[in-house]
Amino acid sequence: MSDSKSRPVLCTECSQPMESPICCAGCGALNPLPPSLFTYFELFGLEPTYEIDLGELRRKYLTLSRSIHPDVAGRTSDSQRAQSLALSSGLNRAYETLRNPVDRAEYLLHLANGPSAADDKSVPGELLGEVMMLREQIEEATEASDQDLLASTRAEVLKQQKETLEEIASICRSGDLKEPATQQRLRQQLNAVKYWNNLLEKIPLQVES
Ligand SMILES: [Zn+2]
Repeated sequence: MSDSKSRPVLCTECSQPMESPICCAGCGALNPLPPSLFTYFELFGLEPTYEIDLGELRRKYLTLSRSIHPDVAGRTSDSQRAQSLALSSGLNRAYETLRNPVDRAEYLLHLANGPSAADDKSVPGELLGEVMMLREQIEEATEASDQDLLASTRAEVLKQQKETLEEIASICRSGDLKEPATQQRLRQQLNAVKYWNNLLEKIPLQVES
């Protein structure tokens, strides 16, 4: 809900503004609204930006997890426990997404109504050629039991992966994600990182010699 970002959510029990819309820090009441009505950022009371403090995110996650837990005193009815579990699973999904830089960038693109991986499978210009070359190098090194070639290929893929992650961060920090051109640049880098991850999985740690 992009239009609800700045709208203060009031506790249905004590009417105080809620920092996280899922549980009131003041009186402990759970919000009867489903967590899917809020963005992952809103669930934690965070601004929707790429730059987030992971320590702060973790602290908020742990505090909220405790306060919405079904074993908290007073939550005895089946409906309260069901609500508590629904909030927990929503909160866990949000936390797993926001703590991972690639998933967080993907989510920001989604919030900006940008293209999904299924909508746009394009990659940066040179990528497919490089991936093909490195894939051949991995096969060659594995067949020849060439540990040195394998190590240097792994180093090259790690370098490419790192550069792609830096590019993703840089686009999210500086670009306007509402701009279609920026959205496409980000989409291509998010597609690219999957190629590097896949290649890394294909490199054996050790070859038989
Ligand atoms: Zn309250």
